Amino acid sequence: MEDSALFEIPRKPLEGAPCNGCGLCCATALCALALELLEAREAPCPAMEFANGRFWCGLVRKPSRYCGTPPLSDRLIRSFIERALAIGEGCDAEE
Ligand code: SF4
Ligand code: SF4
Repeated sequence: MEDSALFEIPRKPLEGAPCNGCGLCCATALCALALELLEAREAPCPAMEFANGRFWCGLVRKPSRYCGTPPLSDRLIRSFIERALAIGEGCDAEE
């Protein structure tokens, strides 16, 4: 991978537009799940994962990697986390 590819991160869309994984929200503030489940204390969130040109929430991608839960439970836990984070409901970060 070329170094420049590391910095080809999408620009933050307008609030309410589909999330494009720019990562700004999780780089600047921790969500309630990061505080509770990861016991993180300051941003950037340790669960941020970068792949395919964008950031993803690692708690959503693979809960067992961060929570110590069995990998077999990933699917079930992911559905709870997606709901808690309102995944699919657009960017909720202010401009
Ligand atoms: S919710 Fe918004 S700020 Fe956060 S990663 Fe998605 S587009 Fe970026
Ligand atoms: S747990 Fe996920 S949504 Fe919350 S701050 Fe970390 S990466 Fe972002």
